[in-house]
Amino acid sequence: MTGFAERLRERLAARKAAQLYRRRRQLDSPQATQVRIEGRALLNFCSNDYLGLASDPRVVAAFTEGLRRFGAGSGASHLVCGHSAPHHALEIALAEFTGRPRALLYTSGYMANVGVLTALLGPRDAVFEDRLNHASLLDGGLHAGARFKRYAHLDTVALAALLQADTGSGERLVVSDGVFSMDGDVAPLADLLMVCKQHDAQLMLDDAHGFGCLGSQGGGLAQAVQEQGVAVDDTNLPILVGTLGKAFGTMGAFVAGSEALIETLIQFSRPYIYTTALPPAVACATLQSLALVREESWRRERLQALIARFRHECLALGFALTDSPTPIQGLLLGDAAKALAFSRQLEADGLLVSAIRPPTVPAGTARLRITFSANHSEAQLDRLLDALARVARQENLPATEAPHG
Ligand code: PMP
Repeated sequence: MTGFAERLRERLAARKAAQLYRRRRQLDSPQATQVRIEGRALLNFCSNDYLGLASDPRVVAAFTEGLRRFGAGSGASHLVCGHSAPHHALEIALAEFTGRPRALLYTSGYMANVGVLTALLGPRDAVFEDRLNHASLLDGGLHAGARFKRYAHLDTVALAALLQADTGSGERLVVSDGVFSMDGDVAPLADLLMVCKQHDAQLMLDDAHGFGCLGSQGGGLAQAVQEQGVAVDDTNLPILVGTLGKAFGTMGAFVAGSEALIETLIQFSRPYIYTTALPPAVACATLQSLALVREESWRRERLQALIARFRHECLALGFALTDSPTPIQGLLLGDAAKALAFSRQLEADGLLVSAIRPPTVPAGTARLRITFSANHSEAQLDRLLDALARVARQENLPATEAPHG
């Protein structure tokens, strides 16, 4: 009989042998396009700080002022005595931003997704999820104990067939990422709205990566689709989730929807009830970053320019990219060991790009996940493209034209 620690070591050894072992690295600098990691300066192409707000002096100043006025910690859960004036003001601002009657803050996106799904669904209900939904949505659906169905990625025809075939009683909830976190591609929201209407199902959209990046004011996929003439409101999209640790540059998450939805979550959502509220200063900082998200649309324009140039030159080098119009660009490599080797080589060239391997992505689709920030310069993009060109030459990829000049 082996001991407990020995059994753990065997499990870890198997993970190492499969090239799936993960390690953390220590950042010695603020989150920015250039970071210091373990004593080395690296260009950062793997953060979710898409608009470059995490270190924006105005956001940092609002945080500092919030700390001065409200202290470091919230001290309790929202339902005890941790719900502060800045939390409340942020909820009102997020409701207005999303055009919904109410919004509710959660301490993280993971908790928001698990919290919504477990509060709303039980064994009598059914949940229908895109196969590539974020882990927190899948975990929430499973944890709720509802009938759990997954449809092929982005495939609303397959979704409609699953809804048609489901004859059980109870609520039917369709759940999708807005922008998919590992591929950067975008959910077919207009079709999802139609299918849900036709099959009498409710829709939940987790737009963690769309808020800030899509829509003329950064209102995310729902705003972008609305601007294309499709009506989107809390009747046909009753549950809208956003996270604050990405484009907003801070941390936490929110759920936006009807009065009845938000009150239901306050009463029944265990990850909301049984956890300490975010520090109020985080809410102060987020109120500032929300204003910048809305006002500084040049950040979205800048991102679009970087993305267009990156895709054009990367495809010319012969790489395969995910079908993404967003700051998340997946450079597909297939094999986990290869993704890891490429990431290491880029790091040797001074570039931080994460290798994403199973189980985060399906087996055989290991990739480099390259993310852009509005603060990346053309010169920084040049360095990335130069390093990728070297990798492409080494791999003998069939480049269709010379890399950028
Ligand atoms: N939803 C999606 C689509 C995500 O990508 C993430 C985080 N990567 C989350 C939810 C979780 O958000 P948080 O990091 O705030 O827990």
